[in-house]
Amino acid sequence: MNQRTLIFLGPQGSGKGTQVKLLKDRIVAQDTQTPIVHFEMGKTLRDIASKENYTSKLMQEVIHRGELVPFNISCSVFTNFLFDHMQGNEHLLIDGFPRSETQMEVVKTTMEFYKREAPIVIHINISDEVGIERLLKRGRQDDTEETIRRRLAWSREEWEKILVRLKSNSAYTVLEINGDQSVEEVHKEILSGLNFA
Ligand code: AMP
Repeated sequence: MNQRTLIFLGPQGSGKGTQVKLLKDRIVAQDTQTPIVHFEMGKTLRDIASKENYTSKLMQEVIHRGELVPFNISCSVFTNFLFDHMQGNEHLLIDGFPRSETQMEVVKTTMEFYKREAPIVIHINISDEVGIERLLKRGRQDDTEETIRRRLAWSREEWEKILVRLKSNSAYTVLEINGDQSVEEVHKEILSGLNFA
């Protein structure tokens, strides 16, 4: 199997984490030789925010407001992760990045640098109703109805903008996935979009 570069995007509650895990398992089942490197932007940032220092405190505030952390922070986190993990023979799964046009440029030039083929973006889209329902059930610490609504509003406006950009950029292929379906159905739709046998 060729080394794949897959980018997962989707608002909180889209089931993105579950789908990445299912896909990872499926790739491993099909090809035990090729390592998988998995970068998770949201989780990495939340880990940084959970520490006891001034930067973490400020980061918590940004995450709590449901805003993107500053560009230099997200990019350095991404770049440092690649420094530590890339070996040249892996499938690369990127979760939650890029989420802005400037981040998109960074991903593009970084993929060129690492001589990766054009990434496939798997966008898991959900309706607002499904998103709010799932997130309130999950009850994560930084989730209140207000931050959830703000994030969903972000997804509607900014997400649309970035997706239009991604779709019109020949460096990316975008798969639109209906995340309102069951876990199994979403997984199937992703597999068929990626032409898994
Ligand atoms: P998530 O778990 O993906 O919702 O991410 C948690 C929080 O991390 C978000 O609410 C943002 O504050 C921040 N975050 C996630 N992805 C990015 C990104 N690509 N750029 C900047 N900030 C991000």
